[in-house]
Amino acid sequence: MTLLASNQTEGLVCSHHHLYSSLARGMPAPPSVPTNFRTILENIWWRLDAALDLDSIYWSAALGALEAVRSGCTTTIDHHESPMAIEGSLDAIARACDDVGVRHVLAYGVTDRWNDGVLTDSPTRMSDGARRGLVETERYISSGGRAMVGVHASFTCSDETLEAAADLARRLAVGVHIHVAEGPDDKLAAQRLAHLADDSWLLVHCVYLSDELPGTIVHNPRSNMNNAVGYAHPTRFPNRVVLGTDGIGADMFEEARIAYARLREHDVTATPDTVWQWLENSYALAPESRNDVVSWTYDHMHEPWRLAFTPGVTPTDVVIDGRAVIKEGRVTTVDVDEVRAKAFESGVRLHKKLES
Ligand SMILES: [Zn+2]
Repeated sequence: MTLLASNQTEGLVCSHHHLYSSLARGMPAPPSVPTNFRTILENIWWRLDAALDLDSIYWSAALGALEAVRSGCTTTIDHHESPMAIEGSLDAIARACDDVGVRHVLAYGVTDRWNDGVLTDSPTRMSDGARRGLVETERYISSGGRAMVGVHASFTCSDETLEAAADLARRLAVGVHIHVAEGPDDKLAAQRLAHLADDSWLLVHCVYLSDELPGTIVHNPRSNMNNAVGYAHPTRFPNRVVLGTDGIGADMFEEARIAYARLREHDVTATPDTVWQWLENSYALAPESRNDVVSWTYDHMHEPWRLAFTPGVTPTDVVIDGRAVIKEGRVTTVDVDEVRAKAFESGVRLHKKLES
């Protein structure tokens, strides 16, 4: 971190978020208990994202953005999917983040796993949903929005879709934001993506990545534990590493503490400096976050060894692009109780849809 006052840092960056997952809390139990990575996706996340509409996307993003800024995270690099509400979804997320005052780099994650509303394995050609997702991305970026080209993962996409996504990213001069080898189902990712990826890509997870790919690796240690996919061991590759939460809030110091514990579990000589460098690395993706100033409840914000063992450090003041979004502990941009209440109502409607 740049040396500001001893209780201040620049704005933190969540390099892989799913703001749409904020309303997953309280969702009805899946029809059968997921027993592995694939069934966690099928029974939880792919049911949830298929039930989203523009209202639930907005309130989910507003709640997620609010929780981000209250954790000192001033930029969220989001990866979104809503196969039944594609058009306008990026605008809804942008509006929610703007209302709260959080910076955002968005992506619509295209996939071929849905074919006329039915889940398809090993797709061989581009689906209508993927085509519409790429159109939504191009529309949003062409109208001035900041985004990357999103792809769910190579194992749910045809080669045709992967190539079209890579082409669009090159044409728009942005990177591709893609889950890579998160679970064993995607272990062919390195082979499938080798001829497409470049340094501008965001490679999320890389737990089962067999060979090096160009791009930045986004490590999400808590999500990897939650899905029981194993340790990603991000230092085994020479790539730049950054941290994400994979949709479990945006408390980047908490994620860094978990990342440190997992690093240390595999190498007892590792120090918190490695993990703090991962936080610092994210400024290459969102350099404007360096203009944000976060004041914290703790006076040793530039000492990784202390931070690694100090839970509950929270911001008192957050200034984003010169605007005080949190002042003396109070959010100034939105009514926190109202956002929570509206998000809750929207969540109830979403969960009812999941039950039916
Ligand atoms: Zn993810």
